Amino acid sequence: MPYRIVVDRSKCQGIGACVGVAPDVFEIDSEGKSVVINPEGADDDTILQAAEACPLEAITLYDENGEQAYP
Ligand code: SF4
Repeated sequence: MPYRIVVDRSKCQGIGACVGVAPDVFEIDSEGKSVVINPEGADDDTILQAAEACPLEAITLYDENGEQAYP
């Protein structure tokens, strides 16, 4: 079951760690912020690693029950 992925654009500084871990899920857009291009572009473990890689905790993950799974 894929996570629901929310990027807080006010926190994101476009560092790109998330893109580095999961390039098929995240992309840096024209404003230099991360956007989700495909929430099913990687398995759950990889998406969790991508969220953990963000030094600004700009990525929040919700599980299939709507519960916050990360951070
Ligand atoms: S790692 Fe965090 S700060 Fe960097 S682009 Fe991804 S969401 Fe933005």
